[in-house]
Amino acid sequence: PHYLMWFRRDLRLHDNTALAALSERANEDNALVSAIFFMTPEQWHAHDMSLTQLDHIARTLPILATSLQKHLNINLTVQVCLNFADCVNALSTLCEANKISLIMANHEYEGNEIERDERLTKQLAKNDIEFIRWHDQCILPPQSIMTNDGDSMYKVFTPFYKKWRHTLDVSTIQTHEAPAVNNKAKLKTSKSSATTINDIENLSKKTVNNYQNVLQTNGLLAHIDIDAQLDYAREAYPAGEEAACQRLDEFIATDIDDYDISRDVPSLHATSQLSAYLNIGSISPRLCYLQATKALEELHRNDGNTLRNSDNNDINRWISELAWRDFYRHVLVEKPTLIRHKAYKEETDSKIHWSYSEDDFKSWCKGETGVPLVDAAMRSLNATGFMHNRLRMVTAMFLTKDLLIDWRLGERYFMQQLIDADFASNNGGWQWSASTGTDSAPYFRIMNPFSQAKTHDTDGEFIKTWLPELKDVPASILHSEDKMRKELAKGGKFSDTDYPLPMVEHKAARQLAIAEFKK
Ligand code: FAD
Repeated sequence: PHYLMWFRRDLRLHDNTALAALSERANEDNALVSAIFFMTPEQWHAHDMSLTQLDHIARTLPILATSLQKHLNINLTVQVCLNFADCVNALSTLCEANKISLIMANHEYEGNEIERDERLTKQLAKNDIEFIRWHDQCILPPQSIMTNDGDSMYKVFTPFYKKWRHTLDVSTIQTHEAPAVNNKAKLKTSKSSATTINDIENLSKKTVNNYQNVLQTNGLLAHIDIDAQLDYAREAYPAGEEAACQRLDEFIATDIDDYDISRDVPSLHATSQLSAYLNIGSISPRLCYLQATKALEELHRNDGNTLRNSDNNDINRWISELAWRDFYRHVLVEKPTLIRHKAYKEETDSKIHWSYSEDDFKSWCKGETGVPLVDAAMRSLNATGFMHNRLRMVTAMFLTKDLLIDWRLGERYFMQQLIDADFASNNGGWQWSASTGTDSAPYFRIMNPFSQAKTHDTDGEFIKTWLPELKDVPASILHSEDKMRKELAKGGKFSDTDYPLPMVEHKAARQLAIAEFKK
């Protein structure tokens, strides 16, 4: 027999549930093994995939192919299919041409992905070909953490987290390592595919270039220096699981030690920056969890010792962030309408009159709102393809509350820009900020972007990095809307720059938003 591993958002060898299961079964059955990855640019475009994320995937593929050959004796083929419907047909053809009787893959939880898999299952069943999927994207799989009556998913994070943590405490989770396979095969494929490392590299680069051209033709990147964004991302995120695991090791060895406090200070870059790797699957979330719990054990063993400078809070806080990632995936599985742009609290869809002002939205996208922390955050996103978590909350709240713009516009813009874009976490974060989701920020608790700057960017370092035109303005002015307006009115320190006046008065905008939600 011949078995096929279908890679999707799981671009790694270590702890890859489907890969381990397939390799083990192939060796037991003395089967041939090969692997495939589909580049689906038209589908990705329809999903608003960012160019930096596509580029990250493209850079990862040749590394994955090399490691598969070297460590597991498996050949990877990369094939271009425009969309998911083409993938289904291509897989059927591949099965026929190569006498494949079993395909394994890891679950994806978004709508089109589920539809594609269901269609494939039906099509393959006609020829008695098995298609087996494994839960792999979460530390604990969707629907495994339910309320005590057992039949519904938690609607808020804290009780979910308690149960999630308890479940992990009383069970042992292990990573699954795939053995090298005994019999490798080379797929017979169509012309639009690559099998040698060189060809995979070339095909990947070509796909990135074509995608960039499409985005540029559509005008989606007009206000962004996309080459600079790509250059930044390529340097900041070296591709492949080795680079990802090294980042995890370094973070656990030192940076986690003051995570609980430093995580909220954007200028410190104190978070792990693993999200880009987690979301294309070049690192396993279970490995992240296990490394963190190991650090926690060390802490207890060396109680009173100075082996680690962290305390429980630092490590536990980081583990809880991993749980947020699981939580939003569990929520998506529970409520698949989210993928069709419905609010979690559906009543908000008909009752809130969101704004769709193109000018306001553009000012926000470009970082020209006149609110320094919001603008610095948006410009950092446009320049790097990444935004710090605190700033995601501040900018999302500003868009949805101060400007009362529909959260879906911001959600889409983040998908188009973020290297770590991920439907479940992004949707969860946006709906939290817009007070339409699970666990949402109560509608009357609206972040003041000036006080947020005072608390989290006390000396204005982050603002001044991204808004160099404000570098000589004292932080005390950047932290106060009144002082900024006064300075501008009297022709003060920054009136000779192009920096705009705040586009809304926060207090008044806040009252309007509260009134809209109350109604
Ligand atoms: P760390 O602080 O080191 O956290 C470790 C890991 O935990 C992260 O890599 C991530 O996988 C997970 N995590 C941390 N915070 C959250 C959270 N609030 N929700 C879900 N998972 C979390 N995260 C994405 O991965 N993709 C997105 O598209 C995304 N969009 C967001 C949009 C908004 C409006 C908001 C408020 C948050 C969004 N987040 C998103 C969550 C969070 O901002 C990022 O996961 C985090 O900034 C990534 O940086 P890090 O890897 O250094 O995180």
